[in-house]
Amino acid sequence: MMIKGEDISVLGGGIGGLAVAVALALRGASVRVLEQAPVLSEIGAGLQVSPNGVAVLDALGLGDEARALAVHGRAVCLRDGTSGRQVMRLDLARWAPDQTYLYFHRADLVSLLEKAARAAGVMFELGRRIDQVTETSAGYRLSSAGGHSDNVGLLIGADGLHSRLRPVLNGAETPFFTGQTAWRALVPAQGNEPAEAVVHMGKRRHMVSYPLRGGKLINIVAVAERQQWSAEGWNLAGDPLALRQCFDAFRGPAQALLAQVEEVSYWGLFRHPVAASWYGNNAALVGDAAHPTLPFLAQGANMALEDAWVLADCLERYEREEALPRYQQMRRTRVVRVIEAANSNAQNYHLSGPKKLAAHAALRLGGALAPRHVLSRFDWIYRHDVTRG
Ligand SMILES: Cc1cc2nc3c(=O)[nH]c(=O)nc-3n(C[C@H](O)[C@H](O)[C@H](O)COP(=O)(O)OP(=O)(O)OC[C@H]3O[C@@H](n4cnc5c(N)ncnc54)[C@H](O)[C@@H]3O)c2cc1C
Repeated sequence: MMIKGEDISVLGGGIGGLAVAVALALRGASVRVLEQAPVLSEIGAGLQVSPNGVAVLDALGLGDEARALAVHGRAVCLRDGTSGRQVMRLDLARWAPDQTYLYFHRADLVSLLEKAARAAGVMFELGRRIDQVTETSAGYRLSSAGGHSDNVGLLIGADGLHSRLRPVLNGAETPFFTGQTAWRALVPAQGNEPAEAVVHMGKRRHMVSYPLRGGKLINIVAVAERQQWSAEGWNLAGDPLALRQCFDAFRGPAQALLAQVEEVSYWGLFRHPVAASWYGNNAALVGDAAHPTLPFLAQGANMALEDAWVLADCLERYEREEALPRYQQMRRTRVVRVIEAANSNAQNYHLSGPKKLAAHAALRLGGALAPRHVLSRFDWIYRHDVTRG
């Protein structure tokens, strides 16, 4: 019990920050979360939590509540967006009945983790934006605009893409535009949509849809390639008309969903390379702060959950000098592989011409003749359970 009673500060109250706070508090640490937002949980839309992320929720004792809050995914369906026709449907309920895929509203998952954190004794400083992190002889100084600063011992940076801790551990870096933009929207469901994630594929663009909140809402993530992103912002209020225009070649279910969009947010997808160093003398990074990923495998939040568990476990088992390098060693190779797989998914979804015809034919065949084999190609992601040690 290396961390029993130890004061630990977590910078950022997103999925990764809250999960690590719960995991540490359950192990007896005295944890404080500093979060810039005045209230947690309001931001975002859908998040898919795959079995590897569900394993962490289970280990945190949140599995039953999580299952009650989320829609249970039964299948993954790939469609040709421009014809609307189905290319492949993988029946998860049939071919992977032991696996749980959950579709959450991000606010519901954040609320669940926040409630668990408070119940475990985690303290929150909401509305506390940290503008600078400086290393001191005893730990770190966290400074906010207006002169408010305090010194902390062990610091966990779970503060996302623009992490204040990451440059302290890795030097200054500027995130780069990936050439992809994403829209996110929620539309009312008709009520008869199956509990499945659908990828509508098209030339240099794709769209993912799945139901949320008891099947009352459909979450839409639409991604299109774009040469440049102006510097004015990362996250803009989007224009539903521009979204429909970008996807005007899409037909069938995708077109019907897009017709319903009234409000949409719009992102440029930016990334850093995976951080070279995930830890310092008395600090560690989790989630997007260490390794922002493109959303094409729906693994960003799942990787943050896995990081959270492994970091807490290492801190509990080993002395600090050993715990932090072990954490990075156990996580970095896997995370790099997941990110590379997400990057290639983007290319596979955005094909056109003969490449598309060949790829769709192969998918049709694989889905019809060997669905179990097709699914097993992703076992290394979904059947990986970090909570088994
Ligand atoms: C379009 C899209 C769809 C996605 N879909 C999925 C999906 O289906 N499944 C999945 O697993 N992942 C998905 N992701 C990725 C996922 O959202 C992120 O990878 C995940 O939320 C990362 O969690 P995090 O805790 O590391 O960072 P974040 O969720 O970004 O949390 C960081 C927190 O730190 C706070 N913070 C930041 N800076 C400061 C500061 N200076 N001071 C104080 N607080 C600060 C922020 O307010 C925030 O609360 C998607 C991403 C996108 C863009």
